[in-house]
Amino acid sequence: MKAVFLDRDGTINHEEPNYLLDLKKLKIFDESFEAIQLLNKNGFKAIVVTNQSCVGRGLLEEQELQQINSALKQNLAKRKALLDSIYYCPHHPEDQCPCRKPKLGMFHQAVKEHNINLKKSFVIGDREFDIHAGKAAGCKTILVLTGAGQQTLKLLTKPTDQPDFIAPHILEAVQWVIRQ
Ligand SMILES: [Zn+2]
Repeated sequence: MKAVFLDRDGTINHEEPNYLLDLKKLKIFDESFEAIQLLNKNGFKAIVVTNQSCVGRGLLEEQELQQINSALKQNLAKRKALLDSIYYCPHHPEDQCPCRKPKLGMFHQAVKEHNINLKKSFVIGDREFDIHAGKAAGCKTILVLTGAGQQTLKLLTKPTDQPDFIAPHILEAVQWVIRQ
């Protein structure tokens, strides 16, 4: 299977200034619905991989995080945009866990559970660790300029840091994926 790994906050939904801690503040970007529908129609698994250190920092219960993730999945599904899985890392950066992006624990779990070929897959995100994880996984990478994307663009200065494509938002990112 081929997959598109999607970051959550700043890529699929609006980012909150600190962390998205309140279900009522979940706002999905308009472009995300069509973007995920296109992945569904074109044979890509749509898989969310999200760092949620707010849990490790004690700002949110893991169960509350799961409720936000379920709401995201359901709100997308109401408009026929289907996510295949949502993987999250709840750990604090200092925990040195194997799952926090740019580490690849969540990607490897997805590979096992969905039989994914990373070389045929893509990563879409708004942060440096999305691009770094994607490159380390052997995927093609797309930086979106929503969320923290504009700032991230300035941080990715090395030639080896460059994403394969830069898109204004998730829909144009997915349209590029489908043209490859
Ligand atoms: Zn982790």
